[in-house]
Amino acid sequence: MRAVTVSPGVPESLRLVEDWPEPAPEEGAILVEALAVGICGTDQEIIAGHYGEAPPGQERLVIGHESLGRVLEDPTGALQPGDLVAGVVRHPDPVPCPNCAVGQWDMCRNGRYTEHGIKGLSGFARDRWRVQQKFAVRLDPVLAPVGMLLEPASVVAKAWDHIERIGTRAEWNPQTVLVTGAGPIGLLAALLATQRGLTVHVLDRNTTGPKPDLVRALGATYHSVPVHELDMEPDVVVECTGAPVVVLDAMCKVGPTGIVCLTGVSSGGRTIDFDAGALNRALVLENNVVFGSVNANRRHWDQAAHALAQADQAWLNSLITRRVPMSHFAMAYEHTGEDIKVVLDFTS
Ligand SMILES: [Zn+2]
Repeated sequence: MRAVTVSPGVPESLRLVEDWPEPAPEEGAILVEALAVGICGTDQEIIAGHYGEAPPGQERLVIGHESLGRVLEDPTGALQPGDLVAGVVRHPDPVPCPNCAVGQWDMCRNGRYTEHGIKGLSGFARDRWRVQQKFAVRLDPVLAPVGMLLEPASVVAKAWDHIERIGTRAEWNPQTVLVTGAGPIGLLAALLATQRGLTVHVLDRNTTGPKPDLVRALGATYHSVPVHELDMEPDVVVECTGAPVVVLDAMCKVGPTGIVCLTGVSSGGRTIDFDAGALNRALVLENNVVFGSVNANRRHWDQAAHALAQADQAWLNSLITRRVPMSHFAMAYEHTGEDIKVVLDFTS
């Protein structure tokens, strides 16, 4: 069968292998036919050789962590043939650490977790894959065209879960949220914010392209000015750019008792002049919280599946700006700068 692979650590080693072996029974009882994978910056970094680890004893890594498939067989009976399914990306570490021991592998303490298509586990960019029941998330049939958005939605569901857990340390009645960055994570964070009845503002540097209209279609307000020029004090900021100046501005912008959730990964190595004492003073005197959030556990995947099923399906569909057939697979990994989400389609 076909599999999209790289040689980890070797730049530009992306290759379609036509005779990749069928998934091993040890991968899980549920056999799934791939429909599509979504592509994100992590895939680009793996292809560039910055990241990625093949399973033990293998030279190549099958990439793809934003999965969508259809169940072919499930001898456990939990899922039915034809069910739409996505695979949870991260598996707990083998020790396991205290968090992995209770299913909170998104909070792994020792870093020895594995991840499909990224770190030590084959990815989902292959014609068929297997999954264990506890890592198989069933999707509403209405999500067939867009279900590969479940993985980024799970990341956002976790961010909101933790924002709300932190928020309930005191009386919690948020009104306004600012999302910085209108990529897939930012737009899905804004979607989940509107589902919570919040007044939503989204900031991005783009003034053209589909982002402003996608934000307005949510009933949210789009801004393309620097964060510090905004005339508001948000109760929550979900930071999705990783851009150092935006991150620091977001920390300064949040209102009293505010929460800043950082989801963007910065590249580092760039220093900027900044008054750290003034930031500390503001955080202390306003009881603000700044925290980082990455990945998702099973609870968040289920929350994300519910959120996507409740969303406007046409809006979700418009997040996918390119669908690339397998016959042109390499084009799916080309960076255009215009795209929101690119999907590799296994059915055409
Ligand atoms: Zn762990």
